[in-house]
Amino acid sequence: MIAVIHAGAGAFAPDERHDDYREALTQALQRAREVLERNGSALDAAQAAVMFMEDEVDFFNAGRGATLCNDGTVELSAAVMRGSDRAAGAVAAVDRSRYPVQAARAVLDRSAHVLLIGAAADRYAAEAGVEQREPTYFITERQQRRLRDAEPVFDHDTVGAVCLDADGALAAATSTGGRRGQLPGRVGDSPLIGAGTWADDVVAISCTGEGEAFIRAGAARQIAALIHGGSQLDAAAEQVLDDVAALGGKGGLIALDRRGQVAMPVSTPAMPRGVWRSGEAPTVWI
Ligand code: ASP
Repeated sequence: MIAVIHAGAGAFAPDERHDDYREALTQALQRAREVLERNGSALDAAQAAVMFMEDEVDFFNAGRGATLCNDGTVELSAAVMRGSDRAAGAVAAVDRSRYPVQAARAVLDRSAHVLLIGAAADRYAAEAGVEQREPTYFITERQQRRLRDAEPVFDHDTVGAVCLDADGALAAATSTGGRRGQLPGRVGDSPLIGAGTWADDVVAISCTGEGEAFIRAGAARQIAALIHGGSQLDAAAEQVLDDVAALGGKGGLIALDRRGQVAMPVSTPAMPRGVWRSGEAPTVWI
């Protein structure tokens, strides 16, 4: 059993509290570990880790405290994918579902669709029992300041998790508020299956970074295709990040294969991340 998480490719602002950040990453890994240790599925474990990070206000660009659009509004997106049958669910540009990843899971579990957007996605999630809040609930002073001051930090903090469960099944989950100052209505790679999120029976992937380039590279699916074609995990992940770079994009990703190999390449100064393997203590890096 393995859980791998990331909290976005970017750079750290000088005021960020590294110890608290590490603790938050460890807690997120713990959530996935608890699910896996009681024989829960990789999908439940990845969702649990991401839900923890969506709820954390100070650090992560997901759920409450996510980055803001150029008009000061918030638009949240998330996706989940189960490797065993490639079932997938996603939501984009929602602003009421407290846990966007749970809304994505509702789309996977209950609908015949893969991606729902906007107010209709929130309504669907509400009917499925996902807690709803006012859009202002998600908007924090910290993100308003960052938008107002155009702080020269390369925002990271989009979150993702990939997990391998006791049955050898893989899953991936990603959640984000997108890019700081994005146009309202803009959708990045995170909720797009095959771009920012992918899982099949061989590999699970969650990407982060300049989403437009990841979309144009078909990044996550391209990694899977390379692995199916015989590439090593590390080499495939690096090759696709190179392709993203060739399109002018920076970022990173986490990838986990069914043999338990992990790749976490990144082309920005930082990408907070962590790994837990059964029988070992969680390890985190920022
Ligand atoms: N990839 C996300 C997006 O483009 C942003 C991020 O990972 O920080 O929406």
